[in-house]
Amino acid sequence: MALFYRVQHMRDALAWEGEIPITSRYTVGIAGEQFFREIMEKSRFLGILCPECDITYVPPRLYCERCFAHLEEWVEVPHTGRVHTFTIVHVDLDGSPLPEPRVLAFVRLDGTDGGLVHYLGEVEPGEVCIGMCVEAVFKEKAERKGGVLDIAYFRPV
Ligand SMILES: [Zn+2]
Repeated sequence: MALFYRVQHMRDALAWEGEIPITSRYTVGIAGEQFFREIMEKSRFLGILCPECDITYVPPRLYCERCFAHLEEWVEVPHTGRVHTFTIVHVDLDGSPLPEPRVLAFVRLDGTDGGLVHYLGEVEPGEVCIGMCVEAVFKEKAERKGGVLDIAYFRPV
């Protein structure tokens, strides 16, 4: 087989079966780390303000996506918000039915221009509506790992 041998028919293609080990690690970045550290250690949310655009980003980011300014003005934001949109989930990531449907929502945090996608709890799926006032329920401190799942869910208030 020459270096530039070209397969004319798929039956001539060679195949090897096996596995290629691939790992990846997602990092949340400098702003994301501070955001999740604050949740883990102090049960509170931080946003970051662009004074030029008057936008409070949650989750925070280091640069304003509108004016590209470097952002440094951290602000504590409430752990309350409103359901901006939601969906009811009936199957898991593998397509297996869940024991009970779960509600996933985008919660716009009060006083910010952002929010979080998370589960709603302590509410029946049929009772959820857009605009519903909710608050974050944090896991016990010993159970927290520095991620979004340190928030157990949002519940109606
Ligand atoms: Zn800006």
